[in-house]
Amino acid sequence: MNLPKLAIAALGGTVSMQARNAGEGVIPTVSGETLLACVPQVTTLARVTVETLGLLPSASLNFEVLLSVLSWAKYQVEQGAAGVVITQGTDTLEETAVFFDYLWDRDEPLVLTGAMRSAQQAGADGPANLLDACRVALADNSRRRGVQVVMNGQIHQACSVRKTDSLALQAFSSPVFGPVGLLIEDVVRYLRQPTQRMCLPLPQHTTQKVALLEASLSADTLLLENILKLGYDGLVIAGFGAGHVSQKWAEVVEHIAEKIPVIIATRTGSGATARASYGFVGSEMDLIGKGAVMAGFLCPRKARILLWLLLGCQRQDELARYLNNDTCFQNQRSSVGAQLAGDER
Ligand code: GLU
Repeated sequence: MNLPKLAIAALGGTVSMQARNAGEGVIPTVSGETLLACVPQVTTLARVTVETLGLLPSASLNFEVLLSVLSWAKYQVEQGAAGVVITQGTDTLEETAVFFDYLWDRDEPLVLTGAMRSAQQAGADGPANLLDACRVALADNSRRRGVQVVMNGQIHQACSVRKTDSLALQAFSSPVFGPVGLLIEDVVRYLRQPTQRMCLPLPQHTTQKVALLEASLSADTLLLENILKLGYDGLVIAGFGAGHVSQKWAEVVEHIAEKIPVIIATRTGSGATARASYGFVGSEMDLIGKGAVMAGFLCPRKARILLWLLLGCQRQDELARYLNNDTCFQNQRSSVGAQLAGDER
């Protein structure tokens, strides 16, 4: 039988971690080849290429590393891969997913997965997640959906997925929207139709700096006041509630927004920022008037990545279009709870 080609890369993370000696903490040591050996079923589904591109805890990944992983993934597709799977740590998975998604201009699925339990832990979830991720990457109904995160039997869209639990097996969710799909009896089933995607060109430069600050009660303005002096090219604020800051912060934001792009997101972990509800100093209406842009449904960390990528290709003028458009969320809102879309049998 002529099986499709599938490319898998390991980057590290808990899925690749084990302890060298009893009583020691786990560290990334398990190669992609060894991970794949735990799920021999994959070789009955596809002709697999597997590479270990890194063995890092995901907190130590960076944009340069991600750009080289992206170019590896694109090359695999050019060589005929029907889909690509990347295993990595879960701590930054919600950020790497959206980073890749903005840059993944291919129809073939790019699927990210990891594990909450390390390789030798009882009930390790890595093998099941890897097998599920391979199924999603090979499924016809996953095409033209960009980058997806597969964890614990669920498929999440890159734009909405968040790590919402530090240690639980069910650590990932998409607040408001829920998973975009599920694996049911090994079948990849989508709950919603694919959304229209807005991809960006590769950044021409990578030295731009975007700060992310969180508003908190009675916070001073010291860091905020120094953002320009420190050479930042953009600022994201995880604001209170629907995208608010204190009066003191609002005054400084006005100065900053005259010079560099400022995004206001919500620190709540769920829901969108407002646009036209509150009028007090520091409210969303006030901050928009002062030149800031509201993040909508995009969480602060993902907003920072969008701004970094836009700055990298000198398209920061399009920031409001990318944020207001909310393309990746549109179908989600219109069809939450809708039909199982184009099931893969
Ligand atoms: N819990 C994290 C993981 O799933 C820890 C380390 C990391 O993100 O690399 O991988």
